Amino acid sequence: MIGSIDPETLLAHARTIAASGGKPVPDGAKVLSDLEICGPAEITAITRAAAERDGSVLVSSGGTTGTPKLTYLPHHMAFDRLLSVWRPLGVGDVVLNLYDAGRMWGTHYFVQKIAECTESTVIPSGPMTTEELELRLPMLREVGVSALASVPSVLADFAETVLKTGVKPPVKTIIWMGEAWTDAKRELVRQAFPNVQLWGIYGSVETWAMGSNRPGCDESTLHLLEDQIFELEDAGALLTRAGDGWTVPVVRYRLGDRIEAAECRCGRGDAFRVLGRADDGFGLLGNFVNIADIVDRARQCPDVVDAQIVLVRDTDLADSARSMTVEYTGTAAPETVRNWLTSGHVRLGTVDGQHPEAISACRVERLRRITRTNKTPAAVWQDALGSGA
Ligand SMILES: [Zn+2]
Repeated sequence: MIGSIDPETLLAHARTIAASGGKPVPDGAKVLSDLEICGPAEITAITRAAAERDGSVLVSSGGTTGTPKLTYLPHHMAFDRLLSVWRPLGVGDVVLNLYDAGRMWGTHYFVQKIAECTESTVIPSGPMTTEELELRLPMLREVGVSALASVPSVLADFAETVLKTGVKPPVKTIIWMGEAWTDAKRELVRQAFPNVQLWGIYGSVETWAMGSNRPGCDESTLHLLEDQIFELEDAGALLTRAGDGWTVPVVRYRLGDRIEAAECRCGRGDAFRVLGRADDGFGLLGNFVNIADIVDRARQCPDVVDAQIVLVRDTDLADSARSMTVEYTGTAAPETVRNWLTSGHVRLGTVDGQHPEAISACRVERLRRITRTNKTPAAVWQDALGSGA
């Protein structure tokens, strides 16, 4: 468990939530584990009830990989809680908001709101193609862009264009959330902006911000915001939070991510790392493997910069693939990458022994992205004929 909340406060809080659409509190409940686990339906019900009183921004998660889950996000977006420990911007800053607007995603509006709360200036750009960015870089330098906000995949693209053109806005701050850094992406950003400070948020559309990362932190480590608890489970961590000022109060909400406790070089407490999706296991011809394990292994291969896997769905079995191609960037030869995987991963070695045609590696110019968010997914599923997401 990470974080702590006084048990009395917690139970009183659970009863309040139960009265506004949350799970009922069982008779005789004394500790957190006596309470029921909740899911997206409770979040929708609780936030919808609050929105009838105070209004909201209606956002949604999923849609690319599942049924959309709706959250009515209060207009305050919980910045009173966040800004006391995480304040990447101040008066005089100019932040380039590269998150895509619309599509019921929340990140673009997060950045707009933080600019408002910190009295800085925001440019609601959204993502740009390389050509658009090349055209606009002189303007961005001229208006003094001091902060960038986006997913690491887009930030790395931005850095690459800056290095290529030599036109460099005075960026000193980067706000990131939505996906984790890879070493290659972070190095590109540091090469373009050597003294830049990284400020990260861990959150979800349903729960909004839960943890933060500041300059001085290990870049893969986050700190849980105050008045929250994570229960660490393989099926996905459970979030509980108490007190006012959140976008949604929750008791034992099942997150889709596996999380582990960590220590951070900054010395602050309640540190954690996100290990990956709880549901990222799949069957490859009878062998159960994890997407994150395979992608991590591929990224460690010499001369591989970044990697993702493309899986051809086995139509007869759920969560099963009949073949897997590792697509990667870098200069390594496909056969080297394939051998690196099958010799360094026991179960892939087993698959290789029985069905050598099921595993392949392919060098690509650029990894595939999710259109809505510009994230680089670890895995892309395809149907046996044609392509899918
Ligand atoms: Zn830290």
